[in-house]
Amino acid sequence: MLRGKVGVAGFEALRAKFRSISRVRAQSPYYLALGPCAVESERQLRRCAEAAVLAGAKGLRGGGVKLRTSPDSFQGLGSEGFRLLNRIAHEFGLESIAEVTDFAQMREGVCPDVVQIGARMMWNFSLLEAAAGTGRTILLKRGMGSTTLEWTSVAERLITFGAREVVLVERGDRHHDETSRNMVDLSTLVFLARNAPYPIWLDVSHSSGDPEVALALLQLAPQLGLDGAMAEIHPNPAEAACDGFQAIPIDRIVASFAQEVI
Ligand code: PEP
Ligand code: MN
Repeated sequence: MLRGKVGVAGFEALRAKFRSISRVRAQSPYYLALGPCAVESERQLRRCAEAAVLAGAKGLRGGGVKLRTSPDSFQGLGSEGFRLLNRIAHEFGLESIAEVTDFAQMREGVCPDVVQIGARMMWNFSLLEAAAGTGRTILLKRGMGSTTLEWTSVAERLITFGAREVVLVERGDRHHDETSRNMVDLSTLVFLARNAPYPIWLDVSHSSGDPEVALALLQLAPQLGLDGAMAEIHPNPAEAACDGFQAIPIDRIVASFAQEVI
């Protein structure tokens, strides 16, 4: 029984909780996921996929739907974007990774190989149940304003809904200091990497909001004991339809990581 404020637990309480959960953590090697914030065009995606392969990535990420606050912002290509992502990812021998926001995106042919639940969707239990039903690996982003206990409890819900593998993806949360885009609690991240029964990844782009810092965090992630990391890349960040300010240019990602696979 966890004591204290509802939804909040210290390391000791979480350790005890995790001990009671059977490990769904695959002993798989480190997983790098790269790709644009949003799928914009075949040419853009193809260039990202080439760079992802050279950098040693296993997954090609790319949003088909973007939940943007402003109605004037790019909202994504929809099912065309999902289909394009699957096609290009498979052509390059990569797994496709995309956020799903409704049931139509989980149909055969549209559904990505790895289903991402976005920070704004963590509490949408009917979506979680449908995602679990796909049999795909699920990336669960930390919900905005959620505690670690709440986030890890939602992972448990996914398992009870029948999910095969759940990966916790830290992407930070809003904070009082507006320097970085979102705040990542490094102590908790390292704690989770050592103790949680799920693989732990860091989304270096939505947490930092900066390409230089994102690149440095990508290099640090394996040393922190993380199981994987995700980053946004783009052939021409200045022209990206969304989140271009934080995208790592593809030549930078290749220059930094390509030597590891040669
Ligand atoms: C994303 O990864 O495309 C995304 C929108 O991230 P988040 O849900 O963490 O904001
Ligand atoms: Mn983005």
